[in-house]
Amino acid sequence: MNLHAKTQLLINWQHFYPPPEYYPHPLSTTPLPFNDLHKFIATRIHQFRSGKSYLRAQKTWMTAHLSSKCERCNAAEETPEHAILHCPALAPNRHGPLQTITSLNDIWNDQNLTIALGAFIAVTKTGYPRSAPPSPLATGSTTMSTLKSIPTTSSSYPLAGPIPAIYAS
Ligand SMILES: [Zn+2]
Repeated sequence: MNLHAKTQLLINWQHFYPPPEYYPHPLSTTPLPFNDLHKFIATRIHQFRSGKSYLRAQKTWMTAHLSSKCERCNAAEETPEHAILHCPALAPNRHGPLQTITSLNDIWNDQNLTIALGAFIAVTKTGYPRSAPPSPLATGSTTMSTLKSIPTTSSSYPLAGPIPAIYAS
């Protein structure tokens, strides 16, 4: 794509489909290195960057009533920065360049750091989906009992399993 077309695309993107205010990253037509990782791991990283992960400090309406404290160390809020860079409970899993960087923004455009982060996520299961108590907003409604009455064969479909590799297949 030539420079003019790319520039115009970015202008139109920002004008017609601007990212939400909580999304701090500049728009770009260049795919980030994490897109080359296994889809499950790439999704975790995309969620961290966009502020919409399963980490306790990145809340949704369904988790707003839960603690933000890191359940591994109970010493700080479980933000991406805490989990990836600072949590003392995960220190043994932080190797090489992940030990020396001071900002997650150092990672996104760096292939080696992205691979190190992918390995860290796979080993520590950081940002993996978790089961949580039902939201108080859900209790008392008829939605839950309606859902429970639907026959299910979920026992033969495990929701999640081990992720054997961090690379896309
Ligand atoms: Zn912690």
